[in-house]
Amino acid sequence: MGDSGEIQAQGPSRRAFVGGALTAAATVGLGGKSAWATVGDARARVPAGMFSLGVASGDPDADSVVLWTRLAPDPLNGGGMPPIDVSVHWEVAEDERFRRVVRHGTASARPAWGHSVHVTVAGLRHDRWYWYRFLSEGQVSPVARARTAPARPRGDALRFLFASCQNWQAGFYTAWAHAPAEEPDLVVHLGDYIYEGGISASAPRQNNSGEIFTLADYRNRYALYKGDLLLQAAHAMCPWVVTWDDHEVANNYTGLVPQNPAGAATFAARRAAAYQAWWEHQPVRLPKPVGPDLQIYRRVHWGRLATFHVLDTRQYRSDQVCGEGLGPDCAERSDPTRTMLGTKQERWLGRGLARSEATFEVLANQVVMTSMPIGGALRSPDQWDGYPVARTRLLDQLRAAGTTNPVVLTGDIHASGVGVVVDEAPDAPAVATELVGTSITSSFDPALADIAEQLIGDLPQIEWVNARQRGYVRCDVTADELVAQYRLVDTVRELTSPIATATTWTVEAGNVAPHAT
Ligand code: FE
Ligand code: CA
Repeated sequence: MGDSGEIQAQGPSRRAFVGGALTAAATVGLGGKSAWATVGDARARVPAGMFSLGVASGDPDADSVVLWTRLAPDPLNGGGMPPIDVSVHWEVAEDERFRRVVRHGTASARPAWGHSVHVTVAGLRHDRWYWYRFLSEGQVSPVARARTAPARPRGDALRFLFASCQNWQAGFYTAWAHAPAEEPDLVVHLGDYIYEGGISASAPRQNNSGEIFTLADYRNRYALYKGDLLLQAAHAMCPWVVTWDDHEVANNYTGLVPQNPAGAATFAARRAAAYQAWWEHQPVRLPKPVGPDLQIYRRVHWGRLATFHVLDTRQYRSDQVCGEGLGPDCAERSDPTRTMLGTKQERWLGRGLARSEATFEVLANQVVMTSMPIGGALRSPDQWDGYPVARTRLLDQLRAAGTTNPVVLTGDIHASGVGVVVDEAPDAPAVATELVGTSITSSFDPALADIAEQLIGDLPQIEWVNARQRGYVRCDVTADELVAQYRLVDTVRELTSPIATATTWTVEAGNVAPHAT
């Protein structure tokens, strides 16, 4: 254990901690190595700086939460740990100075899992904030906040942020810099947490390597992202609930089919590497992956207020048809054997919706769900529009379950949108609200913003659209309403940028559609 002076230096108030992280970001440069800890002579076998990737918490329930870290003193070069198991002590306290430690224990960081640590801390009180930290080999991690969810039937208020698409090379995490000041209870990340691509010399900041394929590659890419102190501060403020989209493996893949046919023979191995690295770097309450498979769809309950049905629309889906991009319809699109969620996940979702008693049923989804015929005819084959029969089955499940207040959260398209989910039939009724968040950084081609906003905005199911700005969505939920504020920054090409609410929409309990506030 480090000396108390060092621990105190790491454990000021939450605001001071976040501020300190931001100052450090400015000092060393984003993505630079942090220098959290020193190491004594007796500990020389483990290098200093083991906690360079920060800490995180996630997947809370009413009496437990998952704590995460990964030991990586040389983060961009395989981590830099010796090939041995390392004991990591963890502490959970009711106060930021760790005078009232309520839970503690020891976990093992193993080379086979990238020296990552996942601890499910149980026996906590409902609906409470805690502070946590890790200690190992004389080094101490940053201090961060985690919390539990309220127990059913309680739960009066929830503030969550949702976000997606944080391509490193597209810009700086200027939006994440503002997230701690929102004081959220939860962050829901809808995927494209990393991107697999190579180096673009003209980007605002560069990737660490060419396109990634191996476990070592994916680990180093996560380490690049996790080294960003603004992202670390966003993880330190509250638990996250994380799902994935395509770029955690490769652009527009489906199941075991890569977009590039040349990679088909090796794609299962690539997906296995990518899924393992995802598991190693996320604070998830999930068993370790087995080969190329990892079931990540799951539910997170916030008392009786909200249930999050966290979806996986990549691992089980049928391959895209009707071409690669936005294009005309084709007969294969309506093949009833095509699936988006896979049979098992579909059944799981239907059962969960039927049983749930939450006021708001939130679907943590990836790609746009509502029917969106651009110009009246063109469909995007990677979205739910490419899987219309599967979408009809899902909307039928929502109706059959008599689901109250279904709200679909969507990422993927790097543009903001507010609307309702409708099927393709003419005059199809609205079944759910859909809130499409923009990206944290990832680009929407500015040359296409005007035409995209016009064509999407013309659709009667779309109430509001913005293809120009990056950011996240803040949702305040009570038993009466869900209020969504689109929090957008001016730019991600500078280190800092002001944030503002571009628009606010309210979903009242009992109403399917949102209204402008
Ligand atoms: Fe994306
Ligand atoms: Ca995507």
